[in-house]
Order: sequence, then C-alpha cells, then structure tokens
Amino acid sequence: MARTGSLRLFRCGRRHSKGSAVGLNNAFVSEGHKLLEIVAGIVFALVAYQVYLHQYFKGARFLLVRGGIARHTGDCNDLNQHVEDLKSTYADVKSTDYGRSDLSDTSHYNMRRRTWQEFGTSNRVHNCSGSVLKNASSQPFKYLCKYFDIKGDEETLSRFEHVLNNFAAAEQGKYLLENERNHIISMVDDNIPKIISAFSKKRLIRELGFRPIDLSNLYFPVYTFRYISAGGNSSAKCDIKLDIANLDKFIAYLSDVVKFRNSVAGQRALMTSSLREKIKQRDNYTCQGCRLSAHQVTNLLLEIDHIIPLARGGMTCESNLQTLCWKCNRTKGAKVLQA
Ligand SMILES: [Zn+2]
Repeated sequence: MARTGSLRLFRCGRRHSKGSAVGLNNAFVSEGHKLLEIVAGIVFALVAYQVYLHQYFKGARFLLVRGGIARHTGDCNDLNQHVEDLKSTYADVKSTDYGRSDLSDTSHYNMRRRTWQEFGTSNRVHNCSGSVLKNASSQPFKYLCKYFDIKGDEETLSRFEHVLNNFAAAEQGKYLLENERNHIISMVDDNIPKIISAFSKKRLIRELGFRPIDLSNLYFPVYTFRYISAGGNSSAKCDIKLDIANLDKFIAYLSDVVKFRNSVAGQRALMTSSLREKIKQRDNYTCQGCRLSAHQVTNLLLEIDHIIPLARGGMTCESNLQTLCWKCNRTKGAKVLQA
C-alpha cells in the first residue's frame, strides 16, 4: 500500500511539474510578446522622430531661422577655413622629396620580417639602432636636426617661427570658433524645438549650415625614431611631437645654434608664444588695421604680423610687429603675395 501511495504521489508530482512547465512556457511567450511590442514601439518612435526631423529641417520655420543667421554662419565657416589653412603651414616648411625606391625582403627560410613592410612609408620615420634611439630620446632636437635634415640656419629658424605663429593662432582660433558657433546657436535657441536641441544637436548644427570644426591636434607634425632588431622580435620607438610647447623650445634651440654660428643673427627677438602675447598686450588686444578690439568683439581671433614682411627684409623685433585680426592679416598676406 505504502509503495502504491508513494507511486501515486510521484505521478502527481510529475503531472504537477508538467503543468508548471506549460505555465512557464506561456509566461515566456507572453514576456516575449511584451518585449516585441516594446521593441516595435521604440523602432516606431525612432522612425517617427526621423520623419519629424526631416520635415522640420525642410520647413519654412526652420529655414527662416537658418536665413536669419546666415551671415554669422558664413563668417564662422570662413574662420574655419582660415584655421585649416593655418594648420597646413608645416607642409611648406618641410616637404623635402627624397625620391623613390623599392625595398624588398629577400630573406630565405621563411624569415620574412613583417615590420619591414612599414619601412620607407614616411619621411618622418627614421629607422635606427638602439643606441641612436636612446640618444634621440634624451636629446630630441639635436637628433631631429641631424637625422631629419633640418638645418640650423637663420632661414630654417624663421620658417619654424612662422609655423609656431600660425599653429598658435590655429589653436586659439579653433576654440574661439567653437565658442562663437555656440554663441550664435544660443541666440536662436528659443526658436528651435527643445527636443531637437537636446537630442539632435549635431544634426542641428549641420542643418544650420556650420561646417564641422576639427578640434583635434592631429595636425602637429610627429617625427619618429624607431628601432627594430634584425629578427624583428624586439622593437622600440621615440616620438617627437612638434606641438606648441615643443615648437617654443625648438625655436630657442635653433636660435642658439644660429647664434653659435653667426653672432649677428642673435640680435633679433624670437617669435615665441610669450612675444606673441606681449605684442597683443602692447596693442591692447586691438587690430591695428580695422581697430576691432577683443574687448568689444567676443571670440575675435588676433594674430601677430610683421609690418615689413620677412620676405622684404623685415626683422622680428617689437617695432616691426603688430596685432591684426585674422581678416586684416589674411587680406594683407594676399596683397603681399600679389605685389
Ligand atoms: Zn582687423
């Protein structure tokens, strides 16, 4: 009797567990349905939002806002282009063409060196021994000049000062530009639906007509010393980035080399970041061409100009330097080129 009873209990138990499995299945199915409904709802909302955006940006109300600030947008885009031009200064300074060659790895026994594929790809990479690499890391400028054919003469010094002057203006320019763009957008913010300013800011900026601002500093030239052992198993590298801080130091270094060779060249001032700032202060942050002042016009990009250009024998000294706004400087630069 007892055995039958326990058997019955066992059967009952199985029947019960089968029932709960079906119940669980049903629960899963209904949960699945709910999930599908939620996903479908989200997809529908996203599609509806995109349609709304499309219609809004094509609508008369938005076009009115866009037209109202068109002049400011145009100014911003001009400055954006100017900043990009300033960044490209270095290409004119150091663009030595060393010619072409073909390198092939003719190793036997399948010992092809993967790292050799990278050889010769850039004029700014020098493959060297371990000891040169170590020395380059402790005396970067000395090795930069020696292995990358940068001469320690007055002409090279002037070119690097020109690069620093332009890079410093580009760095300042890109942040002033971003501030100016945000300022213009804040002026029309009340006329833009909150949902768009909150969730589609990037698209809003694009649809208003602003060109994207590149805030990265990837344009700073980087010189690399690279050591790879013969077997390719051991390697190390040393990067020398000519950013603003390093350019300031590099100019002082080149100046010392030039002075060492020719004492007359040491008479002039160096176009460093501190001299740039000193000239702007002296001119009370006011353009000496159009008299616009950074005190009155927010986000005004001011640059330092040689009154008599270097190409015409002008010197880098305080009396031959002046503050100009970027527009006046650009206009003057174009006139000098045409003359
Ligand atoms: Zn001006």
